[in-house]
Amino acid sequence: MMLFFQSDFFVNLAYIFASILFIFGLRMLGNPERAQRGNLVSSTGMLLAIVVTLFDQTIISFQLLSIALIAGAIVGASAASFVKMTTMPELVALFNGFGGIASLLVGSAEFLNVSALGSIALFAVSLTVLIGGVTFSGSLIAFGKLSEILNGKPFLFVGQRIVLSIILILALALGVEVIVNTGLLGLSNEMLLVSLIGIAVVLGILLTVPIGGADMPVIIALLNSYSGIAAASAGFVINNNVLIVAGSLVGASGIILTQIMCKAMNRSLSNVLFGGFGASSSSSSSTSIEIQGEVKPINVADAYLILEAANSVVFVPGYGMAVSQAQHSVRELGELLEENGCDVKYAIHPVAGRMPGHMNVLLAEANVSYDLLVEPEDVNPIMETVDVCVVIGANDVVNPDARENEGSPIYGMPVIEVDRAKTVFVLKRSMASGFAGIDNPLFLKENSRMLFGDAKESISTLVSEFKS
Ligand code: NAP
Repeated sequence: MMLFFQSDFFVNLAYIFASILFIFGLRMLGNPERAQRGNLVSSTGMLLAIVVTLFDQTIISFQLLSIALIAGAIVGASAASFVKMTTMPELVALFNGFGGIASLLVGSAEFLNVSALGSIALFAVSLTVLIGGVTFSGSLIAFGKLSEILNGKPFLFVGQRIVLSIILILALALGVEVIVNTGLLGLSNEMLLVSLIGIAVVLGILLTVPIGGADMPVIIALLNSYSGIAAASAGFVINNNVLIVAGSLVGASGIILTQIMCKAMNRSLSNVLFGGFGASSSSSSSTSIEIQGEVKPINVADAYLILEAANSVVFVPGYGMAVSQAQHSVRELGELLEENGCDVKYAIHPVAGRMPGHMNVLLAEANVSYDLLVEPEDVNPIMETVDVCVVIGANDVVNPDARENEGSPIYGMPVIEVDRAKTVFVLKRSMASGFAGIDNPLFLKENSRMLFGDAKESISTLVSEFKS
């Protein structure tokens, strides 16, 4: 019986079933109502793949495996329970990095342990080590930037492209040497591997440091894709079909997400990777147009009176809503407005927050109906008919400079055009800038009212006003 479970037929059948579960799970993630079940379906597929692999291959002793499994489960469970929603993007960046280093280690172990690898296997090994190393170091830089341990601004230096090209050529030369083994470089196998790892790590750093400001979502999605490609490549190295499928799924979905993020920023991928955020504009801030107007604060009581009379309200959440965890109060306010006969919508910008889909996740957690969510291109054409736009801790994604100021680093990026609504409430704590570090003339527009304070507190007080 045990022999049947270890037969190629059974193992491959189980892998195919696991792959089907991954694909269905992924498909279900596209719909917020089925997303949780989708996660469960994919996790079941992963559990099946792991169990079958462990019984199929007696890789290392079960005692060692159990220790690793327990340690991994503790790290995973504590990360999932203790990491705050606002630090999820950093966690995602770190997990991408873990994926990268795992692939790098698999590739390295195969390279050192197996004496006679064929050239296709050696090609897969060098690719796995290279992409794994780039993903690892790139993800650590992204983590540092997102957690503000490192400066979030793009780091550009003279001759950057030349240095990058030299490193790329070196990486290519080392990769070819691993495959062909001409001996021209005079390096032992171990030194070849160490050099390839070193080059990959430097490449990851050099590819990530020039990216910063509002471009960060693109690199996060791209690193996610790299981690998938590295895993698929590791699958080829160890001849594991399910790893190839899982890695390809992550790689492909990461590339699609990267494209979506580039579109949201109205930038090409090469411009994001090599341009540097704001480097192409004549000014590094939005000061090339003199910002005119004055700040007009409003208190909650007055904001309530305007909202109470409004026929249409559009909420525009941003990173500040995640910081203050205001999503539940926002949903409550939305429901009260609807009961008052008001048409309520939630406009979501693809790069709002700090990770792709950040706002969708928060609003889904607060049970906001998915039907009420609209994209910028749906809401912008009707913006002039909206009575009140309530901007909740959003800043860069509602900056009118993206349309009006050619000198702005975000010029050309599609934004939610809240300044064209009849009235705009901006809920934030101060006049501070957002992630991109640029001024926002929205705050000084004639129709803007600043509701200063923590977003959750402001919204909760508005809810109380409605209830009383
Ligand atoms: P944002 O431009 O970063 O602005 C967030 C605003 O929230 C800040 O101006 C801050 O102002 C306010 N805020 C913070 N805590 C608050 C609180 N407790 N209550 C009320 N307001 C609070 O956010 P965004 O408009 O969502 O734009 C996202 C930015 O992050 C874009 O530049 C995007 O490119 C970048 N980014 C996105 C991702 C992604 O994948 N989505 C990843 C990395 C980077 P105060 O301090 O004055 O309160």
